[in-house]
Parts: sequence; C-alpha cells; structure tokens
Amino acid sequence: MAPVAAQPRLTPAATEMALAALKQLLGDRLTTAQAVRDQHGRDESWNPPFPPDAVAFPHSTEEVSEIVKICAAHGLPIIPYGAGTSLEGHVTALQGGISIDLMQMNKVLQVNAEDLDVVCQPGVTRKQLNEYLRDTGLFFPIDPGANASIGGMVSTRASGTNAVRYGTMRENVLALTVVMADGRIIRTSKRAKKSAAGYDLTRLFTGSEGTLGIITEITLKLYGIPEAMSSAICSFATLEGAVNTVIQTIQAGIPVARIELLDDVQVDAINRYSKLDMPVQNLLMLEFHGTEAAVAEQAEMVQSIASDHGGNNFQWTTKPEERARLWQARHDAAYASKALRKGCEVWATDVCVPISRLAECILETKEDVVKTGLTAPLVGHVGDGNFHLAIVLDRNNPAEIETIEAFNERLVHRALRMDGTCTGEHGIGRGKMKYLTAEHGEAVAVMRAIKKALDPDNLMNPGKIFSI
Ligand SMILES: Cc1cc2nc3c(=O)[nH]c(=O)nc-3n(C[C@H](O)[C@H](O)[C@H](O)COP(=O)(O)OP(=O)(O)OC[C@H]3O[C@@H](n4cnc5c(N)ncnc54)[C@H](O)[C@@H]3O)c2cc1C
Repeated sequence: MAPVAAQPRLTPAATEMALAALKQLLGDRLTTAQAVRDQHGRDESWNPPFPPDAVAFPHSTEEVSEIVKICAAHGLPIIPYGAGTSLEGHVTALQGGISIDLMQMNKVLQVNAEDLDVVCQPGVTRKQLNEYLRDTGLFFPIDPGANASIGGMVSTRASGTNAVRYGTMRENVLALTVVMADGRIIRTSKRAKKSAAGYDLTRLFTGSEGTLGIITEITLKLYGIPEAMSSAICSFATLEGAVNTVIQTIQAGIPVARIELLDDVQVDAINRYSKLDMPVQNLLMLEFHGTEAAVAEQAEMVQSIASDHGGNNFQWTTKPEERARLWQARHDAAYASKALRKGCEVWATDVCVPISRLAECILETKEDVVKTGLTAPLVGHVGDGNFHLAIVLDRNNPAEIETIEAFNERLVHRALRMDGTCTGEHGIGRGKMKYLTAEHGEAVAVMRAIKKALDPDNLMNPGKIFSI
C-alpha cells in the first residue's frame, strides 16, 4: 500500500476554534494529549496510524448530539471509536478531526428476558454483556476474537465462531438509536422481532463503519443458554479432507454451533502461544449446542463424515474448563500468528465464498501462500464459507509489503470470481476500499448517493469504505 499522508480538512486555527467550543461542552472529557490521540489513531492491524486532533468521551446520546452539532458547525471530521480492534484502518483520522470514544457509554439498559432481547449502550463489550447476562440463562452469541464493543460490532457487521448457527450482527440487531451527521437523534425500529414498516434503516447502519452516524443505543436479540454443549477437535492429513468435511456437514444440515478450520501452520502457532499439544496437522474445531441427546447425535454424525475424509483423532468434551481453554486458544489465533516472527505485525485479511466453492478457494489460496513464500497461517469460520489469513510482515520492509499487497489482491479476485466477497466480516475501512467497485459495480454509486444524502459535508469517518 502506497504511504498516504494525512490531509487535515481544517487549518490549525479553524481546528483550534472547534476544539475550544468542544472543550466548553466537555471540559476534561476532551483531550489533546498526544498518547491518547496516538492510541485512537490506530487499530489492531498493521495499517499506518493517523491520530485525530482530539479525543472526546461522551456520556449520553444527547451529549453525542451536541458534539456532532459543534463539529458540523465548524466542518470538523468525526471518527466514532469503540474498542479499536478493527483490522482495516477503520479508525484512522485521515483528515484530522475528533475521535468520539464511546467506551464510557457502557451500561446495559434493559434486559427483556421474556422477549429474548437486551438494550445497551455502544461501549458495552461482548464479554461484559455476557457477564451481565450470566444469571438470566441467556447469552449473546456473536464473538469476534477480540473483546470488541457492541457499537463497533454493529458498525463493522461483525461475526465470529458462532455465526454459522446464530447469524452475524446483521441477523441480531433489532433496533438502533443513531445520532445523524447534523446532530438529529433517530431510532431505527421498535423492539418487535419483525417489521415491514418503511426502509430498513437498522440494516443500513449495521456495517456503515461510522460513515453515516454514531450509534448510541442498541437492541440485540438474545438466546437461551443451551442445555448441553460439547466441543470437539479432529485432525486431517490434508486440507482438502478437512474442508470437504465442513462442506458435507453444512450441506447435510447438521446444526453445528461452531465449525472452525485451522491449517497446520496455525495449529503449530497456537500450540506454541497457548501451550497446547494438538497434532500439527490441519484441524477442525467444532461445537454442538442442544439437548444431551442432540449434542451426542450431532458429534457422531460429524465424526462419521470426518472419517470418510481422512479425519483422525476425533476427541470431544463437555467439560466447561476444557471447552473454554480450546476456544480461548482459537480466539488468540491472531496473536499466536504474530508471535511467529519477533518484532513483526500481522496483515489480517478475510474473504468469504459460497460453501460449494470453499474447497477450491482455500486450496488455490494455500498453493499461492506456498508459492509466494509467505508465513500466513490460515484459519476460518468455514461453516459460513469465510476464512482468514494472518500474514506475518515486517512493516519496515517495503518489498515484503508489496508482495503481500499483490497476494491479497489475488485472494480477493479469486473470491470475487467464485461469487464471494472481499470481506466476510472485517469490513472495508481504508484497506479494502479499492475492491468495492470490483465487487458491487454500479451499486457503489447508490451507496455514495446515500452517504451524500445523510452526510452532505462528508464529516463522518471520511476516507473510509469509498472516497467522496
Ligand atoms: C484478535 C482479533 C480477532 C478478531 N476476530 C474477529 C472475528 O472473528 N470476527 C469479526 O467480525 N471481527 C474480528 N476482529 C475485528 C474486530 O474485533 C471487529 O471488527 C469489531 O467489530 C470491532 O469493534 P471495536 O469495538 O473494536 O470497533 P472499533 O475498531 O473501535 O471501530 C470499528 C469501526 O466502527 C466504527 N464505530 C465504532 N463504534 C461506533 C459507534 N458507536 N457508532 C458508529 N460507528 C462506530 C468506527 O468508526 C470504525 O469504523 C478481530 C480483531 C482482532 C484484533
């Protein structure tokens, strides 16, 4: 990626005026401290950081609205910020402006157990939400590897290991409160499970990456904690055998809750990082939810499919501590990859294809990894046709960056050729902007028209998803 210089929207004097007005509103909850700005100008990817001019810490929807009104009056760009765990340069302040950190708006406002839903503020993290729900017998299943904020997860349309059974954020957000680019406050829907009333604004904001408005309240679906849960692992000598097991399991309609693929390079990295001793082969990690009998039946069915495809060492457990250890290791896969080369970073990329094309896409990609000579563990939420590569890179080596850039481009075009998408869950941010037209064609013009109608001055997270 060619280095891009930050291009501040406002002159230093105009920025000073806007910040003075914000300071009057927020006092100490507006800071220009360099360390805080630096932290808010980067995500967890290798993407070059761009710090904002200041960081604001609002406490209410009304306060967010007041902040936005001041920014709109001065033309100061606004970058909403959650836990900062996104992976495509989403939170970088390319044109300066303020980062609105929503992590102090972190209350669970209402649990409607009998309706299976919850209303919360955007700074609640996914782990915090499930801790809060612990005694209710309910849980929220979407689990990106990092402990992301619910506001960030809505904004990137995140998913995770449970999406194969419970869907992504797209299927699990019922309603949003949003502060628009002019400071208006809207609510996109009521709590009803379905509605045919007008345009579906909930879905429009879900995945909008902070470019259309700031989400300040979220209503989510909840699920009953299953009576029984079991986890399993199964090793395969070939990647093909592992992927074909996944495809056949999904096509047979077995309601797996999780089905994750890790190639041998990823298993080796996890063994070292999480002090495990799994066989260094391609691996499927699975989870089954249901009654005791259903869980046992599902495990048996998958074991039988796996053995037809060369699966060996099928082991399963219902012990909560063993399950937790296994899934924590899976969630730490990116950190395990990073630890493979000292002082290096990870270029995390993800694509998603229809399940029938998954084997073809993964096998071609693996061949490309080997030919290109990359250290690139492969891991994926393969039940959805989604897989990731955590390509280890030295940020200071331009030749390496160029090689990875070209590899990523081949990967994306391979997925598009197979009727897939350039990102199943990480989003576009800044890193994947150049692929959007290849994927959506004329539909990008419609997206731009929506952006221009809702944010005519391009204040909300400018330079992300597409340029204006
Ligand atoms: C180790 C690791 C594993 C990961 N695994 C997964 C995975 O399995 N699945 C997955 O989907 N992702 C995964 N991710 C990526 C990341 O966790 C998700 O993209 C997550 O949804 C980002 O949430 P966040 O709170 O960190 O948001 P941030 O990074 O703070 O922000 C992300 C985007 O949302 C916008 N935003 C944030 N809050 C708001 C708000 N309240 N209103 C409007 N816009 C807002 C920001 O402007 C930005 O564009 C992983 C990341 C890491 C580091």
